[in-house]
Amino acid sequence: MDIQYDVVIVGSGPAGLTAAIYASRANLKTVILEADTPGGKLTKTYEIENYPGIAKISGVDLAMQMMEHSGNWGAEIEYDGCEKVIPHEGYFEVVLTSGNVMTTKTVIVASGTRERLLDLPHATEFTGRGISYCAVCDGAFYKNKDVVVIGGGNSALEESLYLTQLVNRVYIVIRRDVFRAEPKVVEKVRSNPKITLITKSLPDALVIEDNKVTGLVIKNVDSGELTTLDCAGIFPYIGADPATGFLQDLGVLNKNGYMEVDRNMETAIKGLYGAGDVVVKDLRQVVTATNDGAIAANSAARKING
Ligand code: NAP
Repeated sequence: MDIQYDVVIVGSGPAGLTAAIYASRANLKTVILEADTPGGKLTKTYEIENYPGIAKISGVDLAMQMMEHSGNWGAEIEYDGCEKVIPHEGYFEVVLTSGNVMTTKTVIVASGTRERLLDLPHATEFTGRGISYCAVCDGAFYKNKDVVVIGGGNSALEESLYLTQLVNRVYIVIRRDVFRAEPKVVEKVRSNPKITLITKSLPDALVIEDNKVTGLVIKNVDSGELTTLDCAGIFPYIGADPATGFLQDLGVLNKNGYMEVDRNMETAIKGLYGAGDVVVKDLRQVVTATNDGAIAANSAARKING
């Protein structure tokens, strides 16, 4: 049987693009599937300051450089989604959103995570007009206005710092009194005069006037007291879940939907690998994603080339 590819890579974030570079350099016929913006979560990240050798770079620039790099070595890119991976003896079928089916000797899943959505009445309706999950994309709409960021992880804090360059004031609302973000970022946030921190509070309701978001009601978790923060925009950064719905039937996911892999990034199904934020791990960073991508592609090359 004529198998089209040596490796199909699902996702074009840092893990997928690194896998593409390593697979192409090992002479594997490689295609990357991307259903959204190439570059993955990098394209929604304002700045990266902890990628070795590059003191500071915008997420979009790093994504574009990785894209170009993977293309230089011959990896193809197909703008289509992955709906299903079907393992067969010695090969896989990959069913695409378009209805097309690819055949491949190996699959590297680097599909990352999807942001958790704000669970309040009218939140879906006002997404894109008052509620945004991407400060880099939408921050400019809120120039000189007040905005609220919800969450205390790296995403919330780093994007809050970015927003301070555009907006009048950033309220950061966290539900406990501790952050998940790394201490250096917390320090920067604490010392930024344009940021007001509100701890031990949860979002309770949107304030909508004249068909526009004009505020967020928050509730103190101890006292139950309600406070309204006047704001033009709300940026929820309340964590993310793995984008692995298309793998559900394969028995390779843990109870939270993350891929379980061994040290070669291989799942319990031989020839199916995971890399990047989508796998079970403690540290989700660009540098650990590229590490995973390199290992997964090397494992695929060893399997194919012997
Ligand atoms: P995260 O680290 O999981 O943080 C989520 C934040 O949202 C936490 O403060 C959490 O509060 C809060 N939260 C969760 N559900 C909530 C709800 N229903 N209502 C209100 N608040 C809620 O998520 P993340 O910031 O998106 O980061 C995801 C991963 O990517 C992490 O591993 C992170 O380190 C990594 N990342 C790294 C970088 C970087 O290194 N430059 C940048 C971005 C992301 P609790 O703490 O109380 O649970």
